[in-house]
Amino acid sequence: MNKLMDDILNKRPVFFCNEKCVENPEAYLKTLDIGIENINDAERRMLRFAPLIAKLFPKTDDGVIESPFKQISGMKKLLFPNMKGSLYMKMDSHLEVAGSIKARGGIYEVMKVTEDLLIKNDMLSKDEDYTKISESKIKDFLAGYTMSVASTGNLGLSIGIMSAALGYKARVHMSRDAKQWKKDRLAENGVAVIEHAGDFTYAAMMARQEAEKEDAIHFVDDERSINLFVGYSVAAMRIKNDLTANNITPTKSKPLHLYLPCGVGGAPGGITFGFKHVFGSSVKCYFAEPVTSPSMLLSVMTEKYGDLNVNDYGLDNITDLDGLAVASPSDFVSPMMKYLCDGFYTVRDDDMFRLLYILKETENIKIEPSAAAGISGLEITENTDSDGYHIVWTTGGLFVPDTIYDKMHARGKTLYENSRN
Ligand SMILES: *Cc1c(COP(=O)(O)O)cnc(C)c1O
Repeated sequence: MNKLMDDILNKRPVFFCNEKCVENPEAYLKTLDIGIENINDAERRMLRFAPLIAKLFPKTDDGVIESPFKQISGMKKLLFPNMKGSLYMKMDSHLEVAGSIKARGGIYEVMKVTEDLLIKNDMLSKDEDYTKISESKIKDFLAGYTMSVASTGNLGLSIGIMSAALGYKARVHMSRDAKQWKKDRLAENGVAVIEHAGDFTYAAMMARQEAEKEDAIHFVDDERSINLFVGYSVAAMRIKNDLTANNITPTKSKPLHLYLPCGVGGAPGGITFGFKHVFGSSVKCYFAEPVTSPSMLLSVMTEKYGDLNVNDYGLDNITDLDGLAVASPSDFVSPMMKYLCDGFYTVRDDDMFRLLYILKETENIKIEPSAAAGISGLEITENTDSDGYHIVWTTGGLFVPDTIYDKMHARGKTLYENSRN
């Protein structure tokens, strides 16, 4: 057995540099059924919904849900004092409404389904003011439909909160690893929470089967949804403002390096798809997964894609990085990542708690442990010697209750102090 496989099976953090990834993605992207026009279409749809979002969720200001982009010099000084490029953070951990990266894809899918449904029923046209969707006539109409989803936590929050705000009946099938506070938050928002003893793949199967038996239901399929994927990809358009504000012009020799936490693959895959369209060979993308569930890594390495399950490799998919506890990757996203993702790496839970603590101490930024998976990428990919703009994508945290955050912070502090003795 080669060393890489041996390390994976023994749950040691690894980096798999993907040699199949194409250097100039244009030709490959042209072979796909979805392209730049889908990204543009999604961006326009989000803008049509912006007045409605602003009305339903005043914290979003103008109704465009977007996250801060920040240079993180304090953490850089402590962790990577000699790194060559510059270090930034794209803080999807702080996206309003959903409190995680799922605000991009999840909320977009609810928008798309709602727009299609209302147009089909002659209740809306694309040039109207979309705030009318919150009026009782339409709200009552949407109450006749159910939005259903399976989730390890954050996708459920995103779909549940958005659907309930529009008037839908919302139903979330939670896998065993979903945190209690996420279930409580959904229940408080009037969302039906169904708890499963199995993992995400199992919860998704149960939810899909249930949806097939009902009418007037839409199942948001995290493993196959093109809407989710396209919603995430819009991040590549939105980042242009951040880059301009920071005087960043990526080139092939000084590219963007993105470090993206990966679960089923929709979020990092959609973002990678968008960035490769917009920035071509001037962007490199790396996915982070827990050592106990490197499903995307193994699926690309073995070319088994959606048929791969980490349990077959003796890995248990048990991790505190709940958004990332996915044993079997999206069969729609994984084959694409063979050509678009530059590399995959794995992380240990303890290291994520340590980084959660360090990020709070150095930058005063609060994230959940799965969201820290991006940070260790710089080290494990040995990219500290690579020139360019390194962007750690933090993916969740805004809504973590203080009492729970304090416990995670304390765990991280102990680990940090022990690591220095
Ligand atoms: C869902 C999630 C991810 C990964 O997204 P996938 O589409 O499942 O790959 C990363 N981080 C957090 C916090 C998440 O909730």
